[in-house]
Amino acid sequence: MSEHRIPGKLICVIFRSVEEQLGENGLNTLLRRSGLDHYIDNPPPDDDTPALELEPFKKAIGSVVDLFGEKAAKPLLLRWGKLVFQYALESRPTMFGLAGLTTTFLSEERKMRFILSRVLAELDKLFGVAHILTEDETHFHVEVKDCYYCGGVKSSECICWQPVGFWTSLMTWITGKEHEVKEIECKAQGKESCKFTIAKQGKNAAKEAS
Ligand SMILES: [Zn+2]
Repeated sequence: MSEHRIPGKLICVIFRSVEEQLGENGLNTLLRRSGLDHYIDNPPPDDDTPALELEPFKKAIGSVVDLFGEKAAKPLLLRWGKLVFQYALESRPTMFGLAGLTTTFLSEERKMRFILSRVLAELDKLFGVAHILTEDETHFHVEVKDCYYCGGVKSSECICWQPVGFWTSLMTWITGKEHEVKEIECKAQGKESCKFTIAKQGKNAAKEAS
């Protein structure tokens, strides 16, 4: 498990988003703080070569929160999540089992359940961490044991914004609507695992003016 590696292309996508929001200096500061300074002039290959281990990736997420504070880290990490989804969709549609699924005749809820369970299984493989899916009448529930998203940070708040961004994008992609995704318990708060809820009922994005 400790040898599990994240593909270079995904790392490049994330680095680029940090640079967009924080500039080159911001990115370099983050890389130095996370012990990834060897990437400063020498980024990982922009393809599916397994590149970065999970531990330094965790540390990088923790450093985002340490360096920039929770308030500034939130939009950045939400964006990471959206970019991971776009990466999945564009670069690895077959791997994620997403190809052709949106046009099936399944009902909206069955489609969500089907795609979500496949995507979570792929995330298990991509990050080497178990995602457990359950549900009730109104929500899907995802529990992440050994969550790496919170990167060892301690906080009174739920801070795993990256998966929130990822699942928000995924749901919108499936139904064309905005689904509320929330983290309700976080390891950063000292809880045993990170728990998320995803609303089955979507709102029309157009109605959301606030
Ligand atoms: Zn977490």
